[in-house]
Amino acid sequence: CGIVGYVGSQSALDVVLAGLKRLEYRGYDSAGIAVLADGGLATAKRAGKLVNLDKELSERPLPIAATGIGHTRWATHGGPTDANAHPHLDNAGRVAVVHNGIIENFAPLRDELAERGYELASETDTEVVAHLLAEEFSACADLAEAMRLVCRRLEGAFTLVAVHADAPDVVVGARRNSPLVVGVGEGESFLASDVAAFIAHTRDAIELGQDQVVELRRDGVSVTGFDGTPADVRSYHVDWDASA
Ligand code: GLU
Repeated sequence: CGIVGYVGSQSALDVVLAGLKRLEYRGYDSAGIAVLADGGLATAKRAGKLVNLDKELSERPLPIAATGIGHTRWATHGGPTDANAHPHLDNAGRVAVVHNGIIENFAPLRDELAERGYELASETDTEVVAHLLAEEFSACADLAEAMRLVCRRLEGAFTLVAVHADAPDVVVGARRNSPLVVGVGEGESFLASDVAAFIAHTRDAIELGQDQVVELRRDGVSVTGFDGTPADVRSYHVDWDASA
């Protein structure tokens, strides 16, 4: 339902949690976050309101990190449980994915993955993406390219955002029929399902087009189509008052 991603030099946990709070008005049933730190991936997720996630984080703090993603979920496939909350991980725990929308062809993809020996940890349509991304990344070592390859296999409406422990300063996002906005700061980059999530940090935004993938780094962003061709970037300045 709500998505936030960050790479920069602030605490990713603080930026992402504050962003998720700005998106609370949309309604949701679960929340979660993943950060990249010390060569690994750390996650926390909980069914219920953000206070449940805050409580989990105070009992089991995440490491300090400068790259992270977060999600508030409105369940469509699989009940609102801790296990079905996003992020979803690959079996090695190196990739984390959050998703808004519905992956219509998730059933055959789940069957294909199960047949190939993958263990599925949730009942969501989303989790297939984590396994497929891990597989593509292990072949090409490029998270944006892995995302493009996976998106070409997906049907439905989706915003996807992912991080990989082997790509420590990168966040990638993709969209088809579902919103995703990029925020360009000084030495930091953001993405979110709504500019309200990062307006406190930057008002320089890029609206991602249909069937596009964005790669976020500290020093900038690059946008391509699902086929890999560079995209025309539509930049704009958010001049309305979003502080209310
Ligand atoms: N279809 C996904 C799920 O049920 C994402 C739902 C959402 O947009 O929050 O987990």
